[in-house]
Amino acid sequence: MTIIDSHCHPQFSQYDQDREEVIKRALDTNVHMICVGTDLEMSQKAVELSEKYDSIWASAGLHPTEVSEVQEPTRAAYEKFIKHNKVVAVGEVGLDYYRIKDKILQNKQKEMFIEFLDLAMSNKKPLIIHCREAYDDLLKIIGNSKISGVIHSFTSDFKTAEKFLAKGFFIGFNGIITFTDQYNEAVINTPLTRTLIETDAPYLTPEPYRGKRNEPSYVIEVAKKIAELKNIPVEEVTEQTTKNTLKLFGLND
Ligand SMILES: [Zn+2]
Repeated sequence: MTIIDSHCHPQFSQYDQDREEVIKRALDTNVHMICVGTDLEMSQKAVELSEKYDSIWASAGLHPTEVSEVQEPTRAAYEKFIKHNKVVAVGEVGLDYYRIKDKILQNKQKEMFIEFLDLAMSNKKPLIIHCREAYDDLLKIIGNSKISGVIHSFTSDFKTAEKFLAKGFFIGFNGIITFTDQYNEAVINTPLTRTLIETDAPYLTPEPYRGKRNEPSYVIEVAKKIAELKNIPVEEVTEQTTKNTLKLFGLND
């Protein structure tokens, strides 16, 4: 049974010493992955990994905390990645008002998100969205756009999740749910048919590995926690979330 880590960063420098082994550990346990870009360089590296491994796909995007005041024109640079056959999404892109308090930069994030939303729509690719403490602004920008995607690393209540579910989005949960009860209500109430699992490795290591660097093979811990909260077998969680990931990103796995 294949599991897909729908959001991880094996291209990051944290894996420079042992990237091959980390990827092998995941593939050996049938964990496939979507390697998510966060800027031009990391999107390029994600594409390179996707070319090297059949079971790794890539996405290209600019993380909201990487948005700078004088942002270079980005569209053409990213468009070249978006057209690559292993690039399955635009992202991660979005808004982060938790880490970026500066109003000018927050406005720049909005401007960039609008541009990436348009890029995704015109290339018919789903969005991988990063959002922290900016859900209302994000919803406003998405408006009634006919766009699909995932709200990755979801950290709000079910009332907020519902607004994204109503727009057709999937909700992505990761290791956070293994070490806090804060999002249990969102996990329990989000239909399994609209749930994705992810690690966001190298960050947000799940229990029982807290304190260690995260890696894609740990994604099973997220599935186990969802199974526990929903009181269903873990196989049901892995099977359905894999189906969801294949469907959202149009993968043939
Ligand atoms: Zn990420």
